[in-house]
Amino acid sequence: MSSLQYFSAKYIVEDSTHLHKDSVLIVEGDLIQDIVHIESLPEKKPENFNELGEVIISPGFTNAHSHVALNSVKGLGYGGASALYDVMWGIEPALDDDLVYKLSLLGMMDAISSGTTSINDHYFFADSVAKACERIGIRGFIGHTIMTEYGPWTGNEQISLAKSFNNNWKNSKTVHPIVAPHETSTVSPKVLKELSNYALENNLLTHIHLAQTQKEMEYIKTNFETSPIKHAYNLGILNEKVIAAHCNVVEDGDLELLAESKAFPVFCPTTHGIAGKPMNTNLLSELNVDWGIGTDCSGGNDDYDMLEEMRTALVLNNSVAKKDFIKPKEVFRKASEENVKRISGGAFSGKLSKNQKADFITVLINTPRMLPLHDVVNNIVMCASSKEINDVYIDGKCVLKNSKFQQIDEQAVLEDGMDALNKIFVKTGFDKKILEGDFL
Ligand SMILES: [Zn+2]
Repeated sequence: MSSLQYFSAKYIVEDSTHLHKDSVLIVEGDLIQDIVHIESLPEKKPENFNELGEVIISPGFTNAHSHVALNSVKGLGYGGASALYDVMWGIEPALDDDLVYKLSLLGMMDAISSGTTSINDHYFFADSVAKACERIGIRGFIGHTIMTEYGPWTGNEQISLAKSFNNNWKNSKTVHPIVAPHETSTVSPKVLKELSNYALENNLLTHIHLAQTQKEMEYIKTNFETSPIKHAYNLGILNEKVIAAHCNVVEDGDLELLAESKAFPVFCPTTHGIAGKPMNTNLLSELNVDWGIGTDCSGGNDDYDMLEEMRTALVLNNSVAKKDFIKPKEVFRKASEENVKRISGGAFSGKLSKNQKADFITVLINTPRMLPLHDVVNNIVMCASSKEINDVYIDGKCVLKNSKFQQIDEQAVLEDGMDALNKIFVKTGFDKKILEGDFL
């Protein structure tokens, strides 16, 4: 049997600037082989020919900053309690391997349903997140969170776990390990430097939270008399292989140093917008920094929907832009190309061109949200919702077909996920706190 698969569609978005009409995407194994016009194929269609009809085939999206297992506190981050310190951190001591696996699958279902083919995820029990990636079929750039202060799990054991995680998964096709120190105020300078050296020696990327809260700024000011970004810069841990989530609590000169370091800052528009502190994307663009986009997690943003995040990024950026408004195609390019290019260290382009990974989605056209369709990419960004995401292919394998998951039993994952949530809420007392109105 041929390893070639053919997918015909009304439109194929090769990348943010190349569109093919009435064409066929040819996939060989896990790679794109070609895009050809339908008329160039013989009348007798080849084996494995999938006539998809009135859809757009598009590159899938990459979420540049997520914690897919941290989805248990939806709706609780909008009251008087701190979304990060009281809500998110409040439930984490109750986690274990099994709970993180079950909750990861829930978060991944949300991500895939809204067109995401890769996540860059930072969390405790990373081995469970990685196993969930393999189970459901999503590409995961996964890091085991390391904290030396405050965290529910700290100490040398966590560093050893992170290193063995990297060794165990380095040959996986689906999971790509990343080094994941938590943040500048929760990891000691000694360990930040040790992890940075380890990442460089092992040709791994580093994924860190940087300059994300006022509390972090105050801690670094008190202890090191500088800002989090300057502290990281002074330690020598910022470089082009660093993914820096947030970078939104800054002082003068911080973003210039970040630009000089070539680290990749990730804007989490919903989280930042709700907290009233958006990353200064306009200044970063002026400094020629090609910033990325991520969702973060529940508590600050209650879903993993990159369609929503692209639109919010566009709106927040342009709402304070003095010049050079960005356009829908620009956030599409970031979500489909720049995110995965940076997170893979240049290994993946996110384009549907020859020899690139066959990570793609199909978007329905004939729906009230999508019609009329004058500009395909603009409509994906400005109109499409998860209802329009019909199929998802990752590494050439079908993960979602006609909105149905192919590698998991959706109902069983939902039920296991709810059981996991209930266990966590009882263990942490969140069940009582919610009833008593602690999060209002
Ligand atoms: Zn985060």
